[in-house]
Amino acid sequence: MQKITLSFDNGPTPEITDHVLDVLERRNIHATFFVIGEKLADANARARTVRAHGAGHWIGNHSFTHKTPLGKMDDPAESVKEIENTQAALADFAHSRRFFRPFGGGGALGDHLLSRAAFDYLCAEKFTCVTWNMIPRDWEGDRGWIQRAFDIGADLDWGLVVLHDLPSGAMQYLDEFLQRLDDEGVEIVQDFPPDCLSIRQGVPTPVAAGYVSDPL
Ligand SMILES: [Zn+2]
Repeated sequence: MQKITLSFDNGPTPEITDHVLDVLERRNIHATFFVIGEKLADANARARTVRAHGAGHWIGNHSFTHKTPLGKMDDPAESVKEIENTQAALADFAHSRRFFRPFGGGGALGDHLLSRAAFDYLCAEKFTCVTWNMIPRDWEGDRGWIQRAFDIGADLDWGLVVLHDLPSGAMQYLDEFLQRLDDEGVEIVQDFPPDCLSIRQGVPTPVAAGYVSDPL
């Protein structure tokens, strides 16, 4: 792995997001935070997203409730609302490339990620859909995710890792992970690997069809 992009999903979570921001700041590293819209209703949590944005991190949309993968929702209109409501809640700090990250349950990629209605909405509203290629299962909470990330990264030139600013315990090992990346000469970049973008500012890429529940 020559390069890696860091992303933190499912926050903001007051103490944990602050810890992640402190660690990144000490190392002058920039990442993307894909936030859950309904969590922004808590002013205390929202303040962490404001802080992340102010520090130069990118802020993306990770659905409003994060309950059901959008391609599995019964009502297509509800899947659109999951995106729309979070984008409204993000207001001023959404990135201008309008990043949306779907979720698959345990990091699974597939045609359950988006409904056709959600896909059409993302294209019409010029969103950029960001998937991933590294799921080290940090939610298990132990430091084993560091080795799992390096094992996955061994087969990649440019990794895009999904971590979670959640109280699993995993983020206490973030600095150790970043030190090992540094020791192994892996460059940390903020932009996303091209093969992890299924829509770029409204334009579908060749991988898009694999992530929509109804045929394109
Ligand atoms: Zn998620």
